[in-house]
Amino acid sequence: MPMRSVIDRRRLLLGAIAAAGLPNSPAWAETSAAACTWPPPDWIEHKNFPSRRWVKIVFVHTNERFNELYMEDGKYVVPAVQKFSWTCRDFRENSWQWLNPYLMDFLFILHWKYCKDEISILSGYRTPETNSKLEGAALNSQHLRANALDIHLPNVDNEAVAKDFKTFIYGGVGMYPLKHFTHLDCGPLRSWVG
Ligand SMILES: [Zn+2]
Repeated sequence: MPMRSVIDRRRLLLGAIAAAGLPNSPAWAETSAAACTWPPPDWIEHKNFPSRRWVKIVFVHTNERFNELYMEDGKYVVPAVQKFSWTCRDFRENSWQWLNPYLMDFLFILHWKYCKDEISILSGYRTPETNSKLEGAALNSQHLRANALDIHLPNVDNEAVAKDFKTFIYGGVGMYPLKHFTHLDCGPLRSWVG
């Protein structure tokens, strides 16, 4: 992807988040922890999205965890992005690809916005072989491009969260209410119910 479009898209993404984040507090969010506020205080004071970001996840199939800073001073920490990508690998084939780091930014926002400590990941990268064996998986799934995550947020209405995603995620949002997960990707803007 050319750098120009990366920058433009990033502006679009963060601009949309800014527009979406004011100052409503969704009823389903757990707001008891004082540390969780949205938008981030740093942003309000300095009009600056945090340049230090972390993600804490568990990949449910292997029970492997990732809990690290992945951005410092506004730059992605390459070994952390690699480790995150490995954690979310195709566990059936033990095969990994670099995941689009914007996915980590989505998770970072979810940590903050919904006061969630650990987010469960059900699927990240998939090989074509694995994807072809999965019931209901799209042939040209964004998972094949290491551009998608299937996630579950514990103890929240995931359907309501998915609807909220659509207001600030520039990409794909798929709701799977019966399977208790939500699909997020950095592909074209679209949404569906599975
Ligand atoms: Zn998915």
